[in-house]
Amino acid sequence: MSIKDTPKPSPSRLVGNILLGVSGLFLLANLFLPGLLGPRPTAAPYSLFIHQVQEGEVSQVSVGQNQILYQLKSENGEPGQVLSTTPIFDLELPKLLESKGIEFAAAPPPKNGWFTSLLGWVVPPLIFVAIWRFFIARGDGQQGVLSIGKSKAKVYVEGESAKVTFADVAGVEEAKAELVEIVDFLKSPVRFTDIGARIPKGVLLVGPPGTGKTLLAKAVAGEAGVPFFSISGSEFVEMFVGVGSSRVRDLFEQAKKQAPCIIFIDELDAIGKSRNSGGFYGGNDEREQTLNQLLTEMDGFAAGDATVIVLAATNRPESLDAALLRPGRFDRQVLVDRPDLSGREAILKIHSQTVKLGKDVDLKAIATRTPGFAGADLANLVNEAALLAARNHRLTVAQEDFAEAIERVVAGLEKKSRVLNETEKKIVAYHEVGHAIVGAMTTGSNRVEKISIVPRGMAALGYTLQLPTEDRFLKDETELRGEIATLLGGRSAEEIVFGSITTGAANDLQRATDLAERMVTAYGMSKVLGPLAYQQGQQPMFLGSGSPDPRRAVSEETSRAIDREVKEIVESAHERAIALLKNNRDLLETITAQLLETEVIEGETLYELLGQVKAAPEPAEPALV
Ligand code: ADP
Ligand code: MG
Ligand code: ZN
Repeated sequence: MSIKDTPKPSPSRLVGNILLGVSGLFLLANLFLPGLLGPRPTAAPYSLFIHQVQEGEVSQVSVGQNQILYQLKSENGEPGQVLSTTPIFDLELPKLLESKGIEFAAAPPPKNGWFTSLLGWVVPPLIFVAIWRFFIARGDGQQGVLSIGKSKAKVYVEGESAKVTFADVAGVEEAKAELVEIVDFLKSPVRFTDIGARIPKGVLLVGPPGTGKTLLAKAVAGEAGVPFFSISGSEFVEMFVGVGSSRVRDLFEQAKKQAPCIIFIDELDAIGKSRNSGGFYGGNDEREQTLNQLLTEMDGFAAGDATVIVLAATNRPESLDAALLRPGRFDRQVLVDRPDLSGREAILKIHSQTVKLGKDVDLKAIATRTPGFAGADLANLVNEAALLAARNHRLTVAQEDFAEAIERVVAGLEKKSRVLNETEKKIVAYHEVGHAIVGAMTTGSNRVEKISIVPRGMAALGYTLQLPTEDRFLKDETELRGEIATLLGGRSAEEIVFGSITTGAANDLQRATDLAERMVTAYGMSKVLGPLAYQQGQQPMFLGSGSPDPRRAVSEETSRAIDREVKEIVESAHERAIALLKNNRDLLETITAQLLETEVIEGETLYELLGQVKAAPEPAEPALV
């Protein structure tokens, strides 16, 4: 795909350049021509001139305002040398010259005087005109000084180099089918219009970051064979009020001229934020104007028969203004979700095309181990694995490189340089084994794969790697409670063994509390509070992303009840973790001792050890009735 400037170099730009060139020449001529006309006289200091006059060596003098030219007396028949000097204010000079009998006169006005003064008057305005023309001409282009209001859209034109096609996108089949239909329509609209079908005007790609929304749009550009205007939402919003809306107007104007064509607005939420979510400083005027202009333009081209399809992408559909989603605007929403097992395999296949794979590489196995990875994560994974292989001076990428790369992506880079002291190491070991034992007992679909006390990333001193054995889209209450208990397992182990707790569990507690709060306020899992949503706005579309939204306005009573419920969930999970660990105290010691020795336990050894975990008796009184 190649990118080119929208406008051709305009004629005014050409004129500007010519003018600039011509006036430049005039200026040069003015500066240097007089000097070039004759040999320059040798410059002499004024004192030497006076001295020579007094000595009677000078034959004639021409006194000008800025220069005195004088000729020495001829010697041996040759004409005397001509010298020049700069005059000083010297009223005695005529008297002196007269007394010496030297011929003198005022300098004649320069012969090209009228020409020079003409240049002096004409050239400067010419230069100004030329510069002005120059910038006006550039204003039509992209970065010109006067380009502020012009749309910054790039136009993608079909080109051979690096063209993205639908074959480069995998794992998002529904979205692909939808967009293929649109490309079909642009290529042969008659087939659709004959039946009376109306193609949606606005198509909104919605999905978590890195799932390939921008990539899909580029593929549309590559396949459609029509002009493709691409701009990012943030480019509309600038410091200058009114710029955004004029940019929108320009963009649609250009697009209509080139119809049929596609306009792609990436990161739509930058302009399309809900207008009533003004926040502390009130609404954002600029953004609002831009949004209004966009709405107007989208309504505007409904009437005409110009085929302009507006494609947009966002990962925050819940924050978009309702007016944007109304029929006639972005009425079609296409979910671009994280890929499933076969999708991940297909994406891995695409990205490993350029990588030399070893014979033992099993992309399917890798796909199985990476649920929740988006396309961008998988692309990154392949690259990490290739880097690892190269670092180890291997010629092909092996399966073990992928295994290592998965861990890197999941847990951050291995940091062998951070050394824990013995006590810290012991605490971390008990903590991680605590997670593992509780995890082995409680969670349904996640299996503990690895325990390590080799520090990784910025925060984790050790880690327990739990990988799902299958894709899960729904979780039930028991599983969520198990997850919370597992998160608290680390801290509980520290409590049991050392009787005290360290700062190492802060992140665990944060996640446990967030999860509990979501159970109560979003998933309606509390019997006391009932199936009500207590969060502001909509529930994030993607399970388990981010911390809970701010609560909607609830009575103080309800607010207190929520807090009580959250606390109860976390505390009962805590009790459960403690009970489990107490019941398996021997195992906790054995595994920890082994972990301290080897630093890492994984695979069969780990399954065998964790297989011995005994269930704990249910807590005497269940926290929730
Ligand atoms: P988004 O716009 O949804 O945040 P991008 O389209 O920018 O994500 O994806 C970033 C990169 O990740 C792409 O350039 C591509 O290399 C890779 N990628 C993401 N999704 C896919 C996919 N479905 N198939 C193939 N590659 C993908
Ligand atoms: Mg994107
Ligand atoms: Zn922990």
